[in-house]
Amino acid sequence: MISSRVRNLQESATLKINAVVNRLKAEGKNIYNLTAGEPDFAPPEAAKKAVVDAVAKNLAKYTPTPGLPDLRELVAAKTNAQQPGLQKPWKASDVVVTNGGKQAIYDAIFTLIDTGDEVIIPSPFWLSYPEMVKAAGGTTVQVETTSAEGYKLSAAKLEKAITPKTKLFILNSPSNPTGALYSKELLQEIGKVLEKHPQIWILSDEIYDRIEFVPGSWNSFLAVNPSLRDRTVTVNGLSKSGAMTGWRIGWSVTPDSLTPALIALQGHSTSGICSLSQHAAIATLKLPLQDFEPHRKEFLNRRNLALEVLKKSAKIGVYEPEGAFYFFLDVRKALKDNQDANGFAEKLLQDIGVAVVSGVDFGAPTCVRISFAVDEKTLLEACQRLVDYCDRA
Ligand code: PLP
Repeated sequence: MISSRVRNLQESATLKINAVVNRLKAEGKNIYNLTAGEPDFAPPEAAKKAVVDAVAKNLAKYTPTPGLPDLRELVAAKTNAQQPGLQKPWKASDVVVTNGGKQAIYDAIFTLIDTGDEVIIPSPFWLSYPEMVKAAGGTTVQVETTSAEGYKLSAAKLEKAITPKTKLFILNSPSNPTGALYSKELLQEIGKVLEKHPQIWILSDEIYDRIEFVPGSWNSFLAVNPSLRDRTVTVNGLSKSGAMTGWRIGWSVTPDSLTPALIALQGHSTSGICSLSQHAAIATLKLPLQDFEPHRKEFLNRRNLALEVLKKSAKIGVYEPEGAFYFFLDVRKALKDNQDANGFAEKLLQDIGVAVVSGVDFGAPTCVRISFAVDEKTLLEACQRLVDYCDRA
């Protein structure tokens, strides 16, 4: 009864574990929840006020499918600021505002991929990418990267993975789940490979853009590779950098050859996103960037404190994240016979009340992801419990 496109899709592991945690909490259990993929900060006051004002002014009506003109203008300006040097800067008409970054990615994949097309995804990856590719009828080509490689794809590995069927390459920097952040030089090398293959599109998922631990280390893909403008989809939004996950504000910025198709698809699926959220997004995008600096500093502080605890473990392989708000820990030395990270994560929750996300669905079956988007006390206590548990194993 279920269509072949949807039949084989897997439920999102992150959403699934969150449901279990919520159930255990409702039963009164004390759970240290390190699964959150969302900042624990409040959204900007300006965003809250904008919603109240929009309601009072009866602005809760349908909007144009690709978004309110003022919002598209602000997104184009933000993107141009992050991608200086484009010969043809972005215009408001190149922006499509979507229900979170997720819809922007889904729509781009759905619009670009035909049955049999190959999509290259460096692994570990954000778990929704392969499922979206599957839903579109495409084939994911996973290219493994290791902790020793800084979880970054080299230009040589990318080149090797390309075939005549390659249609899309997905890059996510800073990365969920690893926190890897691609240097300017590496982005340049990757860009050089892609320049030789004009049939390949690039989807640069920049949703964690402002969460970098060395100021100035992050670069937008097109800032480094402006010549690839006309086949690159830049995805971003306010979920992570604006601490506005539930408001569902994302967007894509795309060349003329793609944008009308994206708008047509969205026009027949969700239409324009919630008008109130769009007013909130306008207010947030007008705020000075310094307003978000405390978030970045707080993430950095938590990262450093947690690192001190985690590094004491003899059994946990720790990769130092350079951005985003996750640790991707290699727990292979703590796994029991035949256990993978799914079994490990289940046991961890059961035995010591620490909830983590298994790396299995991220393409790394001996790893777990922990989030530091939680208060310091919870984070440090949970990390200590995790270290004690693994070192006892
Ligand atoms: N891309 C990555 C790498 C993410 O981690 C997420 C959310 O977890 C998204 C995209 C989607 O973000 P949104 O909540 O705006 O849909």
